[in-house]
Amino acid sequence: MTKNNTHPEAAVEIAGAGPAGLAAAITLAHAGRRVIVHEAHKAVGYRFGGDFQGLENWTTREDVLNVLKNLGLTTDFTAVPGRNGSAFDASGKRYEINSDETLFYLVERGSGPDTLDSALLRQARALGVEVHFNSRLRHMAGEGILAAGPRAADAIAVGYHFETDMADGYWVICDNDLAPKGYAYLLVMNGKGTVKSCMFSGFKQEKLYVQRTLEAFQRLVGLTMKNPRPHGGSGNFHIPQSARSGPHPLVGEQAGFQDTLWGFGMRLAILSGVLAARSLLNNEDYDVLWQRELQPQMETSVVNRALFSLLGNRGYGWFLHRYISAPNLREALRRQYQPSWPKRLLDPWARYRYKSLRKDVTCDHIDCHCIWCRGECCIHE
Ligand SMILES: Cc1cc2nc3c(=O)[nH]c(=O)nc-3n(C[C@H](O)[C@H](O)[C@H](O)COP(=O)(O)OP(=O)(O)OC[C@H]3O[C@@H](n4cnc5c(N)ncnc54)[C@H](O)[C@@H]3O)c2cc1C
Repeated sequence: MTKNNTHPEAAVEIAGAGPAGLAAAITLAHAGRRVIVHEAHKAVGYRFGGDFQGLENWTTREDVLNVLKNLGLTTDFTAVPGRNGSAFDASGKRYEINSDETLFYLVERGSGPDTLDSALLRQARALGVEVHFNSRLRHMAGEGILAAGPRAADAIAVGYHFETDMADGYWVICDNDLAPKGYAYLLVMNGKGTVKSCMFSGFKQEKLYVQRTLEAFQRLVGLTMKNPRPHGGSGNFHIPQSARSGPHPLVGEQAGFQDTLWGFGMRLAILSGVLAARSLLNNEDYDVLWQRELQPQMETSVVNRALFSLLGNRGYGWFLHRYISAPNLREALRRQYQPSWPKRLLDPWARYRYKSLRKDVTCDHIDCHCIWCRGECCIHE
């Protein structure tokens, strides 16, 4: 365990105002600590700019919004429950998703008034957190937390943001010709939408996969886009040996914390931020905390990814049939993410098959121009 000899009134510095950094800031501020958050860009959620994302609601029986409330975090953002939607396999066969329970909450990212990022920022500021924009942290001398987002691209999601007359909904296609080893998705909420190919390989042909994704959604569900704007980003999936750089905890995707199966990283980002803050407040070993709270689920998701990437186009049909016809889809997904002895047995094989592009544990990525840091991509920025 690392002891910090800082004065109790000294500010805790946080690099990055994403969900991980802001969740850490709020937790520290609740406990009366002075907190300064540095954000490299001019606003929160800059790399997402109005993106829609799913806050997954299947890894716990407790509803994710209650989980956030119990962590002392705001839920004052637009969160549309995702229950009914459609999935397609590579042959175009449709599988209707009808869930009595909320599978995920559709949230907006970016600096708009109703986004997750803006809600966390409002709460942080109300608690006295100082947030400095256009402030790329170059050096962290005292107590602090590194929350600077992904440093390598293990997966990319690329496509468009747009306006539309389509009704609200969500649609997914599992087809390696559209999104290699991943999935293509279309999300529409209140006249706005995002369509993406989320691919785990084949990045060099991203334009081809995006084009095929658009054509497939036009054909299958009548996608119409007004004012389409390119958007994309990367995800970094990695279970580190230690999530610290010197004395500083690494949180969210800077640590590599992600859902390796499908990239639902927001919950892990938020939770790791809270754990890092608690480790500073209670002088506890952060590595012990995240390894206990987060590692089992992340290890299971690596096994899930290794299995999913074996399926191929024919296997996706089997997978969709098996899961979507489950009497309680949310519970089926929850079980899929739970550690179990078969998954533990498969763990060494899965780790061998799935290797993150992130390997160098010596880089803390602050103001660095090494190849990972150059590789940080907002694809069309
Ligand atoms: C296209 C796309 C779709 C996604 N969809 C989903 C989804 O549906 N559901 C889901 O759960 N997850 C999704 N994710 C993943 C999710 O967005 C991330 O897991 C989550 O945002 C990680 O939070 P974070 O706080 O770790 O990093 P980020 O949200 O990336 O925040 C990091 C912040 O740090 C700032 N920063 C960087 N360097 C510095 C520095 N040196 N000093 C100061 N500030 C710095 C950055 O500007 C950024 O604002 C998606 C990701 C992408 C790219």
